[in-house]
Amino acid sequence: MVFRVSGVPMVGTLYFGLVDRGTNVVEVRPTSVCALSCIFCSVNAGPKSRVRRNEFVVELDDLLGAAREVARFKGRGVEFHIDGMGDPGNYDRLVDLVAGLREIPETRTISMQTRLFMMSEDKIRQLAEAGLDRINLSVDALDVGLAARLADAEWYDVRRAVELAEYAVRNTGMDVIVSPVWVPGINDGEIPRIAAWAHAALGKRWPPVLVQKYVAHKRGRKPVREMGWRAFWDALRRLEEETGLRLVFEGDAFGIERRAPLPRPYAVGEKVRLRVVTRGIFAGEYLAVPLRLRGSAIHDRSMTVVSDVELPEGAVVTARIIENRDNIYLASPATGQPRRAFRRGSPYSR
Ligand code: SF4
Repeated sequence: MVFRVSGVPMVGTLYFGLVDRGTNVVEVRPTSVCALSCIFCSVNAGPKSRVRRNEFVVELDDLLGAAREVARFKGRGVEFHIDGMGDPGNYDRLVDLVAGLREIPETRTISMQTRLFMMSEDKIRQLAEAGLDRINLSVDALDVGLAARLADAEWYDVRRAVELAEYAVRNTGMDVIVSPVWVPGINDGEIPRIAAWAHAALGKRWPPVLVQKYVAHKRGRKPVREMGWRAFWDALRRLEEETGLRLVFEGDAFGIERRAPLPRPYAVGEKVRLRVVTRGIFAGEYLAVPLRLRGSAIHDRSMTVVSDVELPEGAVVTARIIENRDNIYLASPATGQPRRAFRRGSPYSR
Protein backbone atom coordinates (compact mmCIF):
# COMPACT_ATOMS: atom_id res chain seq x y z
CA MET A 1 0.00 0.00 0.00
CA VAL A 2 1.20 3.53 -0.79
CA PHE A 3 -0.13 6.38 1.36
CA ARG A 4 -0.18 9.90 -0.15
CA VAL A 5 0.86 12.23 2.66
CA SER A 6 -0.79 15.62 2.99
CA GLY A 7 -1.91 17.82 5.87
CA VAL A 8 0.34 16.26 8.50
CA PRO A 9 3.54 17.73 10.00
CA MET A 10 6.58 17.25 7.78
CA VAL A 11 9.02 16.99 10.69
CA GLY A 12 9.12 14.18 13.25
CA THR A 13 9.38 10.88 11.37
CA LEU A 14 11.95 9.11 9.22
CA TYR A 15 9.20 7.85 6.87
CA PHE A 16 8.95 11.13 4.93
CA GLY A 17 9.29 14.91 5.18
CA LEU A 18 12.28 16.77 6.60
CA VAL A 19 15.00 15.61 8.99
CA ASP A 20 17.26 18.08 10.82
CA ARG A 21 20.34 16.74 12.60
CA GLY A 22 21.62 20.08 13.89
CA THR A 23 23.61 21.19 10.84
CA ASN A 24 23.03 23.27 7.72
CA VAL A 25 22.09 20.04 5.87
CA VAL A 26 18.34 19.36 5.86
CA GLU A 27 17.27 15.93 4.62
CA VAL A 28 14.26 15.96 2.31
CA ARG A 29 12.34 12.67 2.07
CA PRO A 30 9.69 12.70 -0.66
CA THR A 31 9.05 8.94 -0.96
CA SER A 32 9.86 5.64 0.74
CA VAL A 33 9.29 3.61 -2.45
CA CYS A 34 12.19 1.57 -3.87
CA ALA A 35 12.31 -0.95 -6.74
CA LEU A 36 15.39 -2.80 -5.48
CA SER A 37 15.70 -5.03 -2.41
CA CYS A 38 19.41 -4.68 -1.58
CA ILE A 39 20.65 -7.55 0.58
CA PHE A 40 22.21 -5.11 3.08
CA CYS A 41 19.46 -2.45 3.07
CA SER A 42 19.33 -0.74 6.48
CA VAL A 43 15.63 0.09 6.05
CA ASN A 44 14.57 -3.24 4.48
CA ALA A 45 13.10 -1.52 1.43
CA GLY A 46 11.87 -2.90 -1.88
CA PRO A 47 9.37 -5.40 -3.27
CA LYS A 48 11.04 -8.38 -1.56
CA SER A 49 10.68 -6.89 1.91
CA ARG A 50 8.75 -9.12 4.28
CA VAL A 51 8.57 -6.58 7.10
CA ARG A 52 7.36 -3.40 5.41
CA ARG A 53 3.61 -2.95 5.07
CA ASN A 54 3.11 0.68 4.10
CA GLU A 55 4.95 3.19 1.90
CA PHE A 56 4.70 6.99 1.83
CA VAL A 57 4.71 9.56 -0.97
CA VAL A 58 4.46 13.22 0.02
CA GLU A 59 2.45 15.93 -1.73
CA LEU A 60 4.86 18.47 -3.17
CA ASP A 61 3.27 21.59 -1.64
CA ASP A 62 3.45 20.14 1.89
CA LEU A 63 7.14 19.38 1.47
CA LEU A 64 8.04 22.74 -0.04
CA GLY A 65 6.03 24.75 2.49
CA ALA A 66 7.87 23.06 5.36
CA ALA A 67 11.25 23.38 3.60
CA ARG A 68 10.74 27.17 3.31
CA GLU A 69 10.02 27.50 7.03
CA VAL A 70 12.92 25.29 8.10
CA ALA A 71 15.34 27.12 5.77
CA ARG A 72 14.29 30.47 7.28
CA PHE A 73 15.01 29.02 10.73
CA LYS A 74 18.42 27.66 9.66
CA GLY A 75 19.62 30.79 7.87
CA ARG A 76 21.70 31.20 4.73
CA GLY A 77 23.83 28.40 3.29
CA VAL A 78 21.37 25.50 3.61
CA GLU A 79 22.00 22.24 1.77
CA PHE A 80 18.84 20.31 0.96
CA HIS A 81 19.79 16.66 0.64
CA ILE A 82 17.03 14.61 -1.00
CA ASP A 83 17.07 11.01 0.28
CA GLY A 84 14.78 8.78 2.34
CA MET A 85 13.76 5.24 3.27
CA GLY A 86 13.51 4.46 -0.47
CA ASP A 87 14.99 5.93 -3.65
CA PRO A 88 13.90 9.55 -4.32
CA GLY A 89 14.56 8.92 -8.01
CA ASN A 90 11.08 7.33 -7.95
CA TYR A 91 9.32 10.55 -6.87
CA ASP A 92 6.93 11.71 -9.59
CA ARG A 93 7.41 15.46 -8.81
CA LEU A 94 11.20 15.32 -8.48
CA VAL A 95 12.00 18.09 -10.99
CA ASP A 96 9.36 20.36 -9.42
CA LEU A 97 10.73 19.57 -5.98
CA VAL A 98 14.26 20.62 -7.01
CA ALA A 99 12.94 23.77 -8.71
CA GLY A 100 10.93 24.68 -5.60
CA LEU A 101 13.90 24.15 -3.27
CA ARG A 102 16.07 26.28 -5.56
CA GLU A 103 13.65 29.21 -5.19
CA ILE A 104 14.18 29.27 -1.41
CA PRO A 105 16.52 32.22 -0.69
CA GLU A 106 18.56 30.34 1.98
CA THR A 107 19.38 27.42 -0.35
CA ARG A 108 23.06 27.02 -1.22
CA THR A 109 23.23 23.39 -2.40
CA ILE A 110 20.72 20.78 -3.53
CA SER A 111 21.96 17.19 -3.56
CA MET A 112 20.28 13.83 -3.96
CA GLN A 113 21.06 10.21 -3.07
CA THR A 114 19.89 7.82 -5.80
CA ARG A 115 20.73 4.72 -7.81
CA LEU A 116 19.97 6.76 -10.96
CA PHE A 117 19.17 3.76 -13.22
CA MET A 118 15.45 4.70 -13.36
CA MET A 119 16.18 8.09 -14.99
CA SER A 120 16.84 9.16 -18.57
CA GLU A 121 19.30 11.62 -20.10
CA ASP A 122 16.39 14.02 -20.56
CA LYS A 123 15.40 13.79 -16.88
CA ILE A 124 18.98 14.45 -15.84
CA ARG A 125 19.07 17.60 -17.97
CA GLN A 126 15.79 18.75 -16.44
CA LEU A 127 17.10 18.19 -12.92
CA ALA A 128 20.24 20.17 -13.69
CA GLU A 129 18.20 23.03 -15.17
CA ALA A 130 15.91 22.98 -12.10
CA GLY A 131 18.95 23.52 -9.87
CA LEU A 132 20.24 20.13 -8.66
CA ASP A 133 23.94 20.54 -7.81
CA ARG A 134 25.04 17.02 -6.95
CA ILE A 135 24.00 13.41 -7.30
CA ASN A 136 25.29 11.02 -4.63
CA LEU A 137 25.22 7.83 -6.65
CA SER A 138 24.65 4.56 -4.81
CA VAL A 139 26.70 1.89 -6.62
CA ASP A 140 28.19 -0.99 -4.63
CA ALA A 141 29.77 -3.01 -7.46
CA LEU A 142 30.73 -2.36 -11.07
CA ASP A 143 30.64 -6.08 -11.83
CA VAL A 144 27.20 -6.51 -13.42
CA GLY A 145 26.41 -9.89 -11.83
CA LEU A 146 27.55 -8.90 -8.36
CA ALA A 147 25.70 -5.57 -8.54
CA ALA A 148 22.45 -7.42 -9.38
CA ARG A 149 23.09 -9.90 -6.56
CA LEU A 150 23.68 -7.06 -4.07
CA ALA A 151 20.50 -5.31 -5.28
CA ASP A 152 18.61 -8.64 -5.16
CA ALA A 153 17.15 -7.78 -8.56
CA GLU A 154 18.22 -9.83 -11.61
CA TRP A 155 17.08 -7.10 -13.99
CA TYR A 156 19.19 -4.36 -12.36
CA ASP A 157 21.98 -3.30 -14.75
CA VAL A 158 24.60 -1.13 -13.05
CA ARG A 159 26.02 -0.18 -16.48
CA ARG A 160 22.99 2.07 -17.05
CA ALA A 161 23.69 3.94 -13.78
CA VAL A 162 27.34 4.38 -14.78
CA GLU A 163 26.33 5.65 -18.23
CA LEU A 164 23.90 8.19 -16.76
CA ALA A 165 26.43 9.37 -14.15
CA GLU A 166 29.03 10.02 -16.82
CA TYR A 167 26.41 11.72 -18.98
CA ALA A 168 25.54 14.07 -16.10
CA VAL A 169 29.16 15.00 -15.48
CA ARG A 170 29.95 15.58 -19.16
CA ASN A 171 26.75 17.36 -20.23
CA THR A 172 25.45 19.36 -17.27
CA GLY A 173 26.82 21.58 -14.52
CA MET A 174 25.91 18.92 -11.96
CA ASP A 175 28.48 16.93 -10.07
CA VAL A 176 28.23 13.20 -9.33
CA ILE A 177 29.96 11.44 -6.47
CA VAL A 178 29.68 7.73 -5.78
CA SER A 179 28.91 6.28 -2.35
CA PRO A 180 29.35 2.49 -2.27
CA VAL A 181 28.39 0.49 0.80
CA TRP A 182 31.31 -1.80 1.67
CA VAL A 183 29.74 -5.14 2.58
CA PRO A 184 32.71 -7.10 3.98
CA GLY A 185 33.43 -10.40 2.27
CA ILE A 186 31.05 -9.61 -0.59
CA ASN A 187 32.25 -6.54 -2.50
CA ASP A 188 35.79 -5.98 -1.10
CA GLY A 189 37.35 -6.15 -4.58
CA GLU A 190 34.84 -3.65 -5.96
CA ILE A 191 35.74 -0.76 -3.64
CA PRO A 192 39.11 0.05 -5.31
CA ARG A 193 37.50 -0.44 -8.74
CA ILE A 194 34.70 2.01 -7.92
CA ALA A 195 37.20 4.47 -6.42
CA ALA A 196 39.36 4.37 -9.56
CA TRP A 197 36.33 5.03 -11.77
CA ALA A 198 35.10 7.85 -9.53
CA HIS A 199 38.50 9.59 -9.42
CA ALA A 200 38.80 9.34 -13.22
CA ALA A 201 35.25 10.25 -14.26
CA LEU A 202 33.31 11.95 -11.43
CA GLY A 203 33.58 14.52 -8.62
CA LYS A 204 34.49 17.91 -10.07
CA ARG A 205 33.50 20.09 -7.09
CA TRP A 206 33.18 17.53 -4.29
CA PRO A 207 35.24 14.46 -3.30
CA PRO A 208 34.39 11.86 -5.95
CA VAL A 209 33.93 8.88 -3.65
CA LEU A 210 32.48 8.40 -0.19
CA VAL A 211 32.74 4.79 0.99
CA GLN A 212 29.99 3.86 3.46
CA LYS A 213 30.39 1.27 6.16
CA TYR A 214 27.78 -1.50 6.18
CA VAL A 215 25.92 -1.12 9.49
CA ALA A 216 23.56 -3.80 10.81
CA HIS A 217 20.21 -2.23 11.75
CA LYS A 218 17.44 -3.80 13.80
CA ARG A 219 14.94 -3.86 10.93
CA GLY A 220 17.53 -3.96 8.13
CA ARG A 221 18.84 -6.96 6.16
CA LYS A 222 21.95 -8.54 7.60
CA PRO A 223 23.92 -10.64 5.10
CA VAL A 224 27.26 -10.45 6.97
CA ARG A 225 28.82 -9.43 10.26
CA GLU A 226 29.47 -5.72 10.56
CA MET A 227 33.08 -4.43 10.53
CA GLY A 228 34.07 -2.31 13.56
CA TRP A 229 34.58 1.41 12.95
CA ARG A 230 38.32 1.25 13.74
CA ALA A 231 38.76 -1.68 11.31
CA PHE A 232 36.78 0.20 8.66
CA TRP A 233 38.91 3.38 8.84
CA ASP A 234 42.13 1.32 8.96
CA ALA A 235 41.03 -0.65 5.90
CA LEU A 236 40.26 2.57 4.01
CA ARG A 237 43.68 4.05 4.90
CA ARG A 238 45.36 0.83 3.71
CA LEU A 239 43.41 1.00 0.46
CA GLU A 240 44.51 4.61 0.02
CA GLU A 241 48.15 3.52 0.31
CA GLU A 242 47.69 0.58 -2.07
CA THR A 243 45.81 2.51 -4.76
CA GLY A 244 47.23 6.01 -4.32
CA LEU A 245 43.61 7.29 -4.37
CA ARG A 246 42.16 9.48 -1.64
CA LEU A 247 39.23 7.77 0.09
CA VAL A 248 38.88 9.55 3.44
CA PHE A 249 37.46 13.09 3.50
CA GLU A 250 36.36 15.28 6.40
CA GLY A 251 32.83 16.69 6.72
CA ASP A 252 34.04 20.19 5.80
CA ALA A 253 34.90 18.92 2.29
CA PHE A 254 31.10 18.87 1.87
CA GLY A 255 30.50 22.25 3.51
CA ILE A 256 28.72 20.76 6.55
CA GLU A 257 28.45 23.24 9.45
CA ARG A 258 26.84 22.92 12.87
CA ARG A 259 23.63 24.97 13.15
CA ALA A 260 21.02 25.33 15.87
CA PRO A 261 18.61 22.38 15.68
CA LEU A 262 14.86 22.86 15.45
CA PRO A 263 13.22 23.03 18.90
CA ARG A 264 12.07 19.71 20.39
CA PRO A 265 8.49 20.46 21.43
CA TYR A 266 7.95 17.23 23.43
CA ALA A 267 10.22 15.69 26.07
CA VAL A 268 10.94 12.00 26.58
CA GLY A 269 8.41 10.66 29.11
CA GLU A 270 5.79 13.32 28.27
CA LYS A 271 2.25 12.16 27.47
CA VAL A 272 0.60 13.44 24.29
CA ARG A 273 -2.86 12.93 22.80
CA LEU A 274 -2.42 11.65 19.25
CA ARG A 275 -4.63 10.79 16.29
CA VAL A 276 -3.61 7.71 14.31
CA VAL A 277 -3.25 8.58 10.61
CA THR A 278 -2.28 5.22 9.10
CA ARG A 279 -0.02 2.21 9.56
CA GLY A 280 3.70 2.83 9.74
CA ILE A 281 6.29 1.37 7.39
CA PHE A 282 7.06 -1.59 9.66
CA ALA A 283 4.63 -3.96 11.36
CA GLY A 284 3.75 -2.74 14.85
CA GLU A 285 4.23 0.93 13.93
CA TYR A 286 1.70 3.68 13.22
CA LEU A 287 1.93 7.24 11.93
CA ALA A 288 0.17 9.63 14.31
CA VAL A 289 -0.13 13.38 14.87
CA PRO A 290 -0.86 15.37 18.04
CA LEU A 291 -4.45 16.61 18.38
CA ARG A 292 -3.15 20.13 18.96
CA LEU A 293 -1.10 21.54 16.10
CA ARG A 294 0.20 25.07 15.59
CA GLY A 295 0.34 25.05 11.80
CA SER A 296 4.13 25.43 11.69
CA ALA A 297 6.90 23.04 10.63
CA ILE A 298 9.09 24.54 13.35
CA HIS A 299 6.80 23.35 16.16
CA ASP A 300 4.52 20.58 14.83
CA ARG A 301 5.65 16.95 14.72
CA SER A 302 4.49 13.71 13.17
CA MET A 303 5.20 10.70 15.34
CA THR A 304 5.75 6.98 15.03
CA VAL A 305 3.72 5.05 17.57
CA VAL A 306 5.01 1.59 18.44
CA SER A 307 2.20 -0.66 19.58
CA ASP A 308 1.64 -4.40 20.00
CA VAL A 309 -2.10 -3.71 19.76
CA GLU A 310 -3.64 -2.86 16.35
CA LEU A 311 -4.52 0.87 16.22
CA PRO A 312 -7.29 1.76 13.74
CA GLU A 313 -6.98 4.84 11.51
CA GLY A 314 -8.56 7.85 13.19
CA ALA A 315 -8.23 6.40 16.71
CA VAL A 316 -7.22 8.87 19.43
CA VAL A 317 -4.61 7.51 21.83
CA THR A 318 -2.69 8.90 24.75
CA ALA A 319 0.93 8.06 24.12
CA ARG A 320 4.17 8.54 26.01
CA ILE A 321 7.21 9.87 24.15
CA ILE A 322 10.00 7.27 24.29
CA GLU A 323 12.55 8.89 21.98
CA ASN A 324 13.01 12.35 20.42
CA ARG A 325 16.59 12.36 19.13
CA ASP A 326 17.05 14.65 16.10
CA ASN A 327 13.34 15.47 16.44
CA ILE A 328 12.41 11.95 15.33
CA TYR A 329 9.56 11.08 17.68
CA LEU A 330 8.78 7.57 18.88
CA ALA A 331 5.87 7.07 21.24
CA SER A 332 3.97 4.16 22.73
CA PRO A 333 0.42 3.94 24.09
CA ALA A 334 0.55 5.23 27.65
CA THR A 335 -1.54 2.43 29.11
CA GLY A 336 0.46 -0.44 30.61
CA GLN A 337 4.23 -0.63 30.69
CA PRO A 338 6.00 1.92 28.47
CA ARG A 339 7.85 0.25 25.59
CA ARG A 340 11.62 0.60 25.57
CA ALA A 341 12.97 2.96 22.96
CA PHE A 342 14.92 1.36 20.13
CA ARG A 343 18.59 1.53 20.76
CA ARG A 344 21.62 0.32 18.85
CA GLY A 345 20.82 -1.08 15.46
CA SER A 346 17.46 0.68 15.15
CA PRO A 347 16.72 2.39 11.85
CA TYR A 348 15.82 5.33 14.08
CA SER A 349 19.36 5.61 15.35
CA ARG A 350 20.77 6.22 11.86
S1 SF4 B 1 19.74 0.25 -0.11
FE1 SF4 B 1 18.66 1.91 -1.14
S2 SF4 B 1 18.30 1.14 -3.21
FE2 SF4 B 1 18.79 -0.63 -1.96
S3 SF4 B 1 16.79 -1.43 -1.26
FE3 SF4 B 1 17.53 -0.01 0.32
S4 SF4 B 1 16.60 1.96 -0.21
FE4 SF4 B 1 16.46 0.65 -2.04
